[in-house]
Amino acid sequence: MQSSSGQELRVGFLGVTSVLVDDGDTRLLTDGFFTRPALHRVLLGRLAPDGARIEQGLARAGITDLRAVLVGHSHYDHALDAPEVARRTGAVVVGSSSTANLARGYGLPGEQIRVVEPGEPLVFDAFRVRFFPSRHASPNAAAGEISAPLTFPARARAFRDGGCFSLLIEHARGKSLLIQESAGFVKGALAGARAEIALISMAMLGRQPESYRRAYFSETAGAVGAKVICPLHYDDFFRPLENPPRRIPRWMDDLRPALDSLERWAGERGVRVSWLPAWQMVPLD
Ligand SMILES: [Zn+2]
Repeated sequence: MQSSSGQELRVGFLGVTSVLVDDGDTRLLTDGFFTRPALHRVLLGRLAPDGARIEQGLARAGITDLRAVLVGHSHYDHALDAPEVARRTGAVVVGSSSTANLARGYGLPGEQIRVVEPGEPLVFDAFRVRFFPSRHASPNAAAGEISAPLTFPARARAFRDGGCFSLLIEHARGKSLLIQESAGFVKGALAGARAEIALISMAMLGRQPESYRRAYFSETAGAVGAKVICPLHYDDFFRPLENPPRRIPRWMDDLRPALDSLERWAGERGVRVSWLPAWQMVPLD
């Protein structure tokens, strides 16, 4: 995949469901969550974007400019840093009205905030992005809407999900990818959407029955006809992101049964499971 500037379309895994997509001309980022506060802070404290960690994260990922920060739901482990990342990079934050209230409360100017409608195509140079209705994995620690501008710092539970989306990112010269920010689904929501690569959340799948896991894979990666699946949201987000990532703690979720069932589901269909290294840009081919 060559872009007009002679560069390939590349993706980079930056922890949880933060994914950088770069065609050589234009960069899009999902979530942009770099602060990754420690567990005691999440449970007992109030959260705000950590400027030093964001600066380090952006530098390590080689990000200097972004067209958009795409947010699939507004829980803190997805949306906390989105307005600060946008402020530093000139990006527009795109997401639900709850994500918009989070960004407004942080003080991001209105022209850098965009509320998206389900299915509405958003064009960023050679990229076309659509948000499709989805659901959060169970349990959902902070359900509901952020109905007014959020005051920072805020308790973790104030970052209500605000509705969950599956993100479809298509490139004008071919290749498209699905980014699934939580391990939930709306049956049939992705019918007709196509993506070669599905990057899908694994967190909380270990707590679900096998039948749910298979339905989830079928309604996300299966629905778009993906040939490659890259697991997301499996790292321990109470610590800085290492490479290879340290896995989500066992008390939160046991990943093993979910990974076994992903391997089985993919194997039956000739789909490849591929692990993206952290902090590295990988060509999509
Ligand atoms: Zn969530």
